[in-house]
Amino acid sequence: MNLAERDQNVIWHPYTQMKTAALPIPIVRGEGALLFSEEGHTYIDAVASWWVNLHGHAHPYIAGKVAEQLQTLEHVIFAGFTHPAAVTFAERLLQILPQGQSRIFYSDNGSTAVEVALKMAIQYWNNLGMPKKKIIAFRDSYHGDTFGAMSVSARSAFTAPFWPYLFEVEFIEVPTAGKEEESINQLKALAAQGDVAAFIYEPLVLGTGGMIMYTPEVLDQLMAICKQHQILTIADEVMTGFGRTGRTFASDYVQHKPDMVCLSKGLTGGTMALGVTSCSENIYEAFLHDDKSKTLFHGHSYTANPVACAAGLASMDLLLQPETQQSINRIVQRHAAFSQSIKALPQVLEVRQQGTILAVEFEDGGTSYFSNLRDTLYSYGIANGVILRPLGNIIYVIPPYCITDAQLDQVYQTIRGMQEIVTGKRH
Ligand code: PLP
Repeated sequence: MNLAERDQNVIWHPYTQMKTAALPIPIVRGEGALLFSEEGHTYIDAVASWWVNLHGHAHPYIAGKVAEQLQTLEHVIFAGFTHPAAVTFAERLLQILPQGQSRIFYSDNGSTAVEVALKMAIQYWNNLGMPKKKIIAFRDSYHGDTFGAMSVSARSAFTAPFWPYLFEVEFIEVPTAGKEEESINQLKALAAQGDVAAFIYEPLVLGTGGMIMYTPEVLDQLMAICKQHQILTIADEVMTGFGRTGRTFASDYVQHKPDMVCLSKGLTGGTMALGVTSCSENIYEAFLHDDKSKTLFHGHSYTANPVACAAGLASMDLLLQPETQQSINRIVQRHAAFSQSIKALPQVLEVRQQGTILAVEFEDGGTSYFSNLRDTLYSYGIANGVILRPLGNIIYVIPPYCITDAQLDQVYQTIRGMQEIVTGKRH
């Protein structure tokens, strides 16, 4: 039996219909933006392995720092104890996070970073003796798939069986071009009713919802309403953080700063599972009390794992090198040039770009995540040595920053081929 067949005997993959899915591709090695399969095929990782990888696969610098940490201290309980990697990483994160963030709470992934933010927001108002019930989110949002994170995410086919168990959330329109007023008015109306604990949002780009983009100016307006009505703002930068939008954080484009920030994915450059929820000092202070019931009762066995924190520190060293910013700028410019070349082609409904994130939306003709078109486009990418995972009729690119110009050309060429499939010129 080869590896893929052995996998099929024992493994249940995420977001995969195991009955009809093709055999998984066994990847045995990675280097830079490339992944190598057991059968000898090479793939360009144009989606940075679910948007996590920043500096390339098996990066020797990160690998070295991780090995060092593993040989020194692999883990320690994080209640009553601390360690250098967690403290140093927190100090350094606070130097680059949006102004006003002053405390770091560690967890293990993006969904739990969101859970923590929601619990902090709700308990913050409770601890102040002013309980507030409502949470506001964007209609097409995705914040993860644990129960709290599902609650604040769009009600989609993914979550349908769980709807009766999710808490109520007020959804407002995403303020894309033409919908700004509607979104602002909806938020104003909800804010005026009072009882709103927090507004959670993906700043500038809604990822899983379809790489939907909106401007910093309108986000500033929404944030201003929240500030005016004492609604806590939670920036979910799980996807947008660490350079993805062209600046370190998407929140850096916005004048009003969030009360909390959720981080994961690029936090360790795509090497170790780690999440962070940061918050402002006034939130933290609301939990300081002689009454122990005001404690934030949240934590996981692997909270602040030293190896993950060491990976985060190493990834940040690389992120802050001038060459990385140059690479980000290069990708931004190349994406922009490609956008121009494809946007007027038949069946291309819209091309969207925010920094290193590029999305091409094809005319959908009623396609959905479950459509055949999605599978056809995905298979075409794989056959051409490029990993692109369509969101229904939307193709997107979120590459590792080390991707070469030649590799980017191959990615763009593959998307052109997909456009020909959609128009029926190619099968
Ligand atoms: N928040 C955003 C904006 C995301 O894009 C995701 C994942 O795609 C999550 C949260 C959940 O992160 P994770 O998959 O690590 O739980």
